[in-house]
Amino acid sequence: MELGIYPPHVNALPSIQLKRLKHVAQWLERETPFYHKKFKEANVDPSDIKNLSDIKKLPFTTKAEVKAFPNCQIEWDPKRTVRRHTSSGTTGMPTTVGFMDIDLQVMGTVGARSLKLCGCEEEMTLQVNYGYGLFTGGLIFDEAARRLGMKILPQGAVPIANSIEIMQRYQPDVWCCTPTYAKRVCYHLKDTDVNVSWRIGSHGAEVWTKETKKLIEEGIGPGFKAYDVFGLCEKGGPFVGHECTAQDGSHIWTDVFYLEVLDENGEDVSAGEFGELVLSHLYAGGFATLRYSTGDKAKLIADKDCECFASGYPRIQVLGRKVKDEFKVGGSFMIRSDLEDVAVVATSKLHELFGKSVGEFRVELSTLEGTTHVEYCVEAADTIKKSAVKDVIREVSRHTIHRSFPVRMVPVGTYERSLGKTKLIIDKR
Ligand SMILES: [Zn+2]
Repeated sequence: MELGIYPPHVNALPSIQLKRLKHVAQWLERETPFYHKKFKEANVDPSDIKNLSDIKKLPFTTKAEVKAFPNCQIEWDPKRTVRRHTSSGTTGMPTTVGFMDIDLQVMGTVGARSLKLCGCEEEMTLQVNYGYGLFTGGLIFDEAARRLGMKILPQGAVPIANSIEIMQRYQPDVWCCTPTYAKRVCYHLKDTDVNVSWRIGSHGAEVWTKETKKLIEEGIGPGFKAYDVFGLCEKGGPFVGHECTAQDGSHIWTDVFYLEVLDENGEDVSAGEFGELVLSHLYAGGFATLRYSTGDKAKLIADKDCECFASGYPRIQVLGRKVKDEFKVGGSFMIRSDLEDVAVVATSKLHELFGKSVGEFRVELSTLEGTTHVEYCVEAADTIKKSAVKDVIREVSRHTIHRSFPVRMVPVGTYERSLGKTKLIIDKR
């Protein structure tokens, strides 16, 4: 795939997107049993894609489906995997993706593009305070800076004092770390006379607000600008999008990732309205997914003139996990999709161990003494050893969301079989 540090002109985008979408859909259908089956079940064929709006004919890929892969691992071609990375796992079991060469090339290039977008230049030095390791942050930033020709200080997520010490010694112009880390550095710098060399900061991997941005900019000092970098492990890590110097939302690199912001019915929301962020890979990489429902709530920023070289590339503001999907259980917050993850993983495990003696799995939510009560319900034949089934479910739950809930057995055939997307959660509240 031809990909430059400067993105294609927006006028050329639709034809590039269509060509790439067709290619990746055909590739996934041909090369991966997962999409072959998925397209068949949805009664679509990649050849049905005649124009960009035909993407709506393709089924969604959910987080729960990804979690149902063995070891939560998307890896279409293990022989060509050059590196594995995982998500941070803040919402359950981490997802693993298998990078091929093309993924490193693409993420490195859009990364270089992103750094350039917020003012980085070849001769500058970047201090990396994202962790190096399985998490995508450190190594992908490294790859991006290398491609741009910057000098790199690959320090990792070290204690704050070490970060400040290295900054003083090498005088880097650019800095990258999570907003939380940056805030802690600001705290350390308070009431000191340390001369800060950083002028540009690229911060992400967490949801943060404009207020936090202001706090960090003030904390680091005059002349420092903090920019939002957006990404997620399932799409290759950071650099799915980045803020330009206008600092008004991240431009998404839609020549590489097709962007949709959708309401509950799967319809596009208008600019300025929040919806779910859905992203499709536009290249055939080691963990490419189409119409991946990220679970993130985001809005498109209404078109405003932007002077940068990404002008015309849509800008988004991400609000993080869907607020409506959050609820409190026993004093702590739960997210619906976490429970869906448990249902999907537990079902696949139970079928593997007990075959047809186990049927459908649902999570029932009800109100008990004013608070939400969660119960796992599983269809099980009379012949089966119930304690063994319960043990498996409890183990999956603890492993996936670090807690478990009561399990109830119901007769096989209790729940309706759905041809479309199965409703795994029965909300009786
Ligand atoms: Zn811009």
